[in-house]
Amino acid sequence: MKKELEIYVHIPFCMRKCSYCDFLSAPADETTQNHYVAALLREIRYYGELCRDREVSTIYIGGGTPSWLQAVYIELIIKQLRVSFAIRKDAEISIECNPGTLTKEKLVTYLGCGVNRLSIGLQSALNEELKLLGRVHTYEQFVRNYELAREVGFRNISVDLMSALPYQTPQKFLNSLRQVIALRPEHISVYSLIIEKGTPFYDKYKFDVVKKEAGMATESLPSEDVEYEIFQRSKELLKSNGYRRYEVSNFAKPSYESRHNIGYWKRSDYLGLGIGAASLIDNVRYSNTKSLDIYIEETKRIRRDPAEWEGTDNGRIGRINLHEEADLIERNGQIEEFMFLGLRMTDGITRKDFEENFHMPIEAIYGDVLARFAGEGLIERKEGFVRLTEQGMDVSNYVLAHFLMD
Ligand code: SF4
Repeated sequence: MKKELEIYVHIPFCMRKCSYCDFLSAPADETTQNHYVAALLREIRYYGELCRDREVSTIYIGGGTPSWLQAVYIELIIKQLRVSFAIRKDAEISIECNPGTLTKEKLVTYLGCGVNRLSIGLQSALNEELKLLGRVHTYEQFVRNYELAREVGFRNISVDLMSALPYQTPQKFLNSLRQVIALRPEHISVYSLIIEKGTPFYDKYKFDVVKKEAGMATESLPSEDVEYEIFQRSKELLKSNGYRRYEVSNFAKPSYESRHNIGYWKRSDYLGLGIGAASLIDNVRYSNTKSLDIYIEETKRIRRDPAEWEGTDNGRIGRINLHEEADLIERNGQIEEFMFLGLRMTDGITRKDFEENFHMPIEAIYGDVLARFAGEGLIERKEGFVRLTEQGMDVSNYVLAHFLMD
């Protein structure tokens, strides 16, 4: 049987930069988009040759705003992936979309080339909050796009919402959440806004960020107590509407969990394509260059005919210099990641998986930590698995930090 591989494709373009965003994304003209997609096609072809022993289980086209690109670009990318890789018939193929950028033609094209999941970044159902965030769309545009997607035939839609926004109250957030739930998407993600240095948001709210960190009240940012209330009430609302929390920030109707993200948390191998994209292959974690120019130029060095590629697989990778960083994750690092990522999921980790991967029982390494948190009611230990309790999930950062080894 071929080894499983997940693929992530990064589209670093957006219509306009949101005020809080520090992702690798920027507006770009048509010529730049053209050159970038051509480079992506070359990279896809290259790795397809190197991954003949793999079978692709999920593809995630993220960004940036992939749906801002003309549909033909997305079609070209997916077609090339299909030519270059063995893609499972039941593969989950997702694309990230921003409201206001979708059209019927785009949606029909996505569906036609096999996209079966849309992930729509709404962030808020309140137009005043969308404006504050510098989003390019209104809530009404989101609803029109959402309904269009349903009409065209999408049966698996995820919607992202953001909490902890400046001036947000529990009422405001729950209002957004109720409106989204009323549309019945299969999946809802609820993330907290993190105000990152280097963004216009940071310049605007930096004093409040520092005050909040010091545990002081601020004028603009919701306190930790308010954030806690928002999350507790959101959880209840989602649960009563049939959404199961399956990860710290993710909720889904039964069997609509994101397979791609579960792969990350289970440390499946994934290949990141495009600038800044990260990969994890056979315990080597590496990221592509963040420079658009270097990326485009380096992929031009890939010879057209794979027959001209000589030497070992590693030799071929070495022929182009797309990678900014590469680290071999040693055994202790693998164990930490296994716990750190696996315990983000409400199902936790299985003892069998741990033993298969590391050839020892989990208690041999984490006996003390597990006993301590089990005693505090934050971890549940059963014969077959270990997982965080609901209370443990609420303080997951604190608990997970204890799984790092010295
Ligand atoms: S749409 Fe997403 S990636 Fe693009 S600027 Fe806004 S937050 Fe950043």
